[in-house]
Amino acid sequence: MTDNIIYGPVPSRRLGLSLGVDLVPYKVCSYNCVYCQIGPTKKTTIARKPYVLPEKILSQLLNRLKEGITPDYITLGGSGEPTLNSEIKHIINRIKEQTDIPVTVLTNGSLLWDETVRNDICGADVVLPSLDAADKSVFNQINRPHPDIVFEGMVDGLIEFRKMYTGQIWLEIFLIDGVNATQAHMASFRRWIDDIRPDKIHLNTAVRPTAESAVNAVSHEKLQYFCEILGDKAEVIAPFKRTNLKEGTNVIQNDLLNMLARRPCTLEDLSAGLGLHKNEILKYIDSMIAGKIIEVVRVGEKSFYQKR
Ligand code: SF4
Repeated sequence: MTDNIIYGPVPSRRLGLSLGVDLVPYKVCSYNCVYCQIGPTKKTTIARKPYVLPEKILSQLLNRLKEGITPDYITLGGSGEPTLNSEIKHIINRIKEQTDIPVTVLTNGSLLWDETVRNDICGADVVLPSLDAADKSVFNQINRPHPDIVFEGMVDGLIEFRKMYTGQIWLEIFLIDGVNATQAHMASFRRWIDDIRPDKIHLNTAVRPTAESAVNAVSHEKLQYFCEILGDKAEVIAPFKRTNLKEGTNVIQNDLLNMLARRPCTLEDLSAGLGLHKNEILKYIDSMIAGKIIEVVRVGEKSFYQKR
């Protein structure tokens, strides 16, 4: 895999043109979600450490910005859970000293029960946490958290964070057919959402390969229906339609297609072959799957992309 800390900018349905910053190595995470699109977590952790130092991030980020790129957002996320980087507060502050581009944190929200973590990310302009379950049993089934993370504590963390944070909270709910995509579960979500008070709710589903093969996508029609139940802040963000890629990005798309013309490739193959971050590759993959240019085939435990 590539060890780029900065990747993109990538076209994102939630964030426009987003410049990604990887705050933890692959795949340091407190969850092992069944739907994870960058691969399974071998061992979940809640240990916060300076996994990537602010100086390293700042120097790479500033070099990238000097090239004249103008992303809509700088997004702290990447190959795992960014709040596990104990330097995140310092990183946010240093970035904001250097640029006016808004900073976002893409988090699973699992550590917000910890007041220090809540304080650490308060300087971001937008925080995008996840809430994939409305009860303990579905939480354990979907997110497969570190044993020290309990459902009630995780949700309380989100509620407490809302009380102190004045920026935007855009909540993501990942829906899986036959698991959390039911009318009854939506009613339960609604109760939590009333307390969390997010500014937006984004519904997503499995439109590309996931860590486990038995993760079934919810139809676009059903997602639209769930939006109505969840209220006017809810919208579908799953890429059912082809995203219009910005000028210049077709070079990467062509490189991807050239690789796939030779043989079907996994995400790891494409990332290593093109020297691009997995998350960056996934944005192009989304667009090409939706545009019916490529398709996914599953062989045993692995997912391969191939030209149609
Ligand atoms: S989806 Fe996000 S939170 Fe879940 S295992 Fe993957 S990186 Fe971690």
